[in-house]
Amino acid sequence: MKYETIIGLEVHVELKTDSKLCCGCSTKFPAEPNTLTCPVCLGLPGALPVLNKKAIDLGITAGLALNCKISRECKFDRKQYFYPDLPKGYQITQFYAPICRTGWLKKEFPTGRRRIRITRIHLEEEAGRSYHSGAGIIDSDYSLLDYNRSSIPLIEIVTAPDLRSPREAKEFMEELKIILEYTGVSDCKMEEGSLRCDANISVRRQGDRELGKRAEVKNMNSFRAVEAALEYEAKRQIELLEQNTPLESEETRAWDEGNRETVFMRFKEKAYEYRYFPDPDLLPVIINDDWIKGIRNKLPELPNSKRERYIQEFRLPKDDAALISSSKPMAEFFEAVLKDYSGEPKNVSNWIIGDLVRLINQEKIEFHQIKLKPEALGQMLKILDQGVISSKIAKTVFEEMFYTGNKPEIIIKEQGLEQISDVQLIQEIVVKVMADHPQSIQDYLSGKKKAKSFLVGQVMKETKGKANPGIVNVLLEKELEKIKE
Ligand SMILES: [Zn+2]
Repeated sequence: MKYETIIGLEVHVELKTDSKLCCGCSTKFPAEPNTLTCPVCLGLPGALPVLNKKAIDLGITAGLALNCKISRECKFDRKQYFYPDLPKGYQITQFYAPICRTGWLKKEFPTGRRRIRITRIHLEEEAGRSYHSGAGIIDSDYSLLDYNRSSIPLIEIVTAPDLRSPREAKEFMEELKIILEYTGVSDCKMEEGSLRCDANISVRRQGDRELGKRAEVKNMNSFRAVEAALEYEAKRQIELLEQNTPLESEETRAWDEGNRETVFMRFKEKAYEYRYFPDPDLLPVIINDDWIKGIRNKLPELPNSKRERYIQEFRLPKDDAALISSSKPMAEFFEAVLKDYSGEPKNVSNWIIGDLVRLINQEKIEFHQIKLKPEALGQMLKILDQGVISSKIAKTVFEEMFYTGNKPEIIIKEQGLEQISDVQLIQEIVVKVMADHPQSIQDYLSGKKKAKSFLVGQVMKETKGKANPGIVNVLLEKELEKIKE
């Protein structure tokens, strides 16, 4: 029997604002516990919220980047529940009139290109953070609370149940992250919790029309965890189906990273249990055409179109184009190099994907922290194309540029790295090397071709790698021919 897995995601994204959703407290991270709080985000009686316009701007930005309809009037509601990290006893969210509806994200999956529908995007506020002395609140002697995060603005992006495998869910999340970073909506740091996702997952027999009962899986803290948790959960639900004991009620489960399994938390709450009602302290926000137009005009070129353009305009291979466009600072660097350098764009992407990414990983830094300037790489490529340095020496120059931020001309001059193309000089060195290694010449004459490579290596060594390898080869060949005769 074949089964189909149906997945929809609820993605929580912390917005990149300087202050919180309804007060002026800073959103910086990390900070001493409870130092970034005020009567509003602590929910003290009588405190009144004032909405942060930047949060609305970023909500609209996310909506436009995901092809959504932007609501002309968005409103805020209260979602009531009790937990110590929620000081007001309710969360400010949007239930009845979210900021965006009905959009889509186009994604190339291994099974083909598809649109994943976005059902809605709503704004809401973050809760505080609790630290329990034990495993959970029930079996702890005490819990500590930090309200620094309380009321930081979030958007929740809800997809339709359009994903068909755990791998697709993971790849969708990766694509979404790139878009949200590009547009400056969020810094999307999963490890710091600024990007999180819950997944609704169900399985059905292939050909069935009706959806099975779903489970909501929480606590997935990395893209890899999303895939692993959903794989586990799909397998578990298929086994239940095969035993004729499918899920009877919708349930919420948590991914246990240590034991690699999903664990039952509770049966899923119904919306009415939260007793949503309009927040009387916050006025509806009217969003007019000019507001939307202003934001649309400022949207950067999105990764999808960049990828296509790199293939068309720069003739980059698909993989290079995908990798470079996946990071905004990397893409900007790539394009900046090409402003100075009119050679093959593929030369530029080779250096970025190869040596640059390797050094960045090695030094454990972020792309935007590098000292290397795009003009410097452009200049180095020109010098390399002109044959002033060999490609081997270029690697040395590149590393030096990476660590010091110096210009290539200066590094080459200071360290005397120009390529030697002086035929007379190379000829002398070739003759000397041959005189020093009579055994290699004997080997060569007796048919060991490897001996020639050894001699080339010796010439390169004598010149500290600076001899033009083409010239070395030609001259050595000539000298060896002479001996044969
Ligand atoms: Zn505050």
